[in-house]
Amino acid sequence: MRIALGGVIHETNTFCAGLTPASDFRQLAGDEILAAHTGVRSYQGGAIEAAGRHGYDLVPLFVANATPSATIAGEAYEVLRDRLLDGIRDEGPFDAVCLTLHGAGVAEGYDDIEGDIVKRTREIVGADTPIVVTLDLHGNMTAEMVAHADLCLPCHYYPHIDMYERGQEAIDSLAQMAAGEIKPTSHLTILPMVIATTTSNLPPISEINELCFAKEEEDGVLDCAMNHGFAPADIPQIGITVLATTNDDPERAKAIADEIAGIIWSRRDEFPHTLRTADEAIPAALATEGQPVILNEASDNPGGGGPGDGTHLLRAMLAAGLKNATFGHIWDADVAEQAHEARPGATIQVKLGGKTEELHGEPLEVTAYVKGISDGQFIQQSPMGQGARIDLGKMARLDIDGIDVLVSSRRAQTLDPEVFLLHGIDVMRYKIVAIKSSAHFRAGFEPIAHAIIQADTPGLNSVDLDAFTYHRVNRPVWPLDPDTSWP
Ligand SMILES: [Zn+2]
Repeated sequence: MRIALGGVIHETNTFCAGLTPASDFRQLAGDEILAAHTGVRSYQGGAIEAAGRHGYDLVPLFVANATPSATIAGEAYEVLRDRLLDGIRDEGPFDAVCLTLHGAGVAEGYDDIEGDIVKRTREIVGADTPIVVTLDLHGNMTAEMVAHADLCLPCHYYPHIDMYERGQEAIDSLAQMAAGEIKPTSHLTILPMVIATTTSNLPPISEINELCFAKEEEDGVLDCAMNHGFAPADIPQIGITVLATTNDDPERAKAIADEIAGIIWSRRDEFPHTLRTADEAIPAALATEGQPVILNEASDNPGGGGPGDGTHLLRAMLAAGLKNATFGHIWDADVAEQAHEARPGATIQVKLGGKTEELHGEPLEVTAYVKGISDGQFIQQSPMGQGARIDLGKMARLDIDGIDVLVSSRRAQTLDPEVFLLHGIDVMRYKIVAIKSSAHFRAGFEPIAHAIIQADTPGLNSVDLDAFTYHRVNRPVWPLDPDTSWP
């Protein structure tokens, strides 16, 4: 079997200022995709493994992927999309297509880029060529995506530790379809309900996942997945959806999706809406016995569209006079460059962070001792994406009033302690380890953290949905409209 592999992957926070250009996307073509993903716990890595196991000819075409950010410029999206579609058209015919997409991509003129990509892929390959799609559970999933694909496989866990397995399942499902063993039939139930980013490691989502997995054990049920949706997007359809897939039984797929959606709806008050502010989180961390305590500044998570240069939490930590604390990392290429020029051992005056937008705080004007510098390169060790090569550009370890602060040249959330190790920091020796991430860090830090306390500072990825002003979202939607009823 000859299978096309490719995708355009973006989680769009439409509240970010400006537009995302094509140059912000890491663009891989052909063998570059194999080199980047073989043996890596990514969707593509899983697809590569399964194709090899089945003896299939997997043809890597084009994968474009950017850190979550503002709406994609319309022309940029069309260029990236068409590079993928041209490959499917020109290097065909293919026996099947495996698309790796996100689900929350928005471009100028396109509220649903994944629906657009799948629909256009279908127009190229025709009705009889299977299309399987892996997705992120933060997708604002639409009926269009489901209608034009044979099978959609959103990841189940947040942190997304099952990307590799979903990639494998995509290819394994193609084998079953080719053998005539299954005819996937899906139903998407859309709830009028939006949630802030919420881990699946804890209830209620951990328990809802177990209900989905129990459904998958039933005869004739192929898949059942809760999509969390992505709240910071001012497009008509955002929020929670449930996707159930059966073996050629549309009524059963609908019944299962509706049943799980009903359970989520009945438990809606259990989803977190407000968390501690930085000024509340720091004393709570200090009052916790044992170490390390992870303080995660989710509201400035670059993995959700936050700039990663917000200063609210670090400012509060400095004001609290913390000593046994480290912060990794804050995005400021200018300060990283300044430290590289000054060299380790130097003391420099810096204006750190707070340079992207006012919401995330003013720059910190402080004196910093340059403890160390690095190239910012390491191999990810978290169970999520293990093996991926990370490059944060020039980095510096600064001592600011006794707090060890890491400064990077590229936006990224922290997924495991590797970035600290790179700079000689053993997080186990610190009382407080502060990072910018919503939940993905849990895969890498839960095994070593004594406690995890989230600090919800003002930001583009805040848990407080009232902080966003929506104009285009379908109303009513819970909890923005508390009286929303369903069904
Ligand atoms: Zn996600």
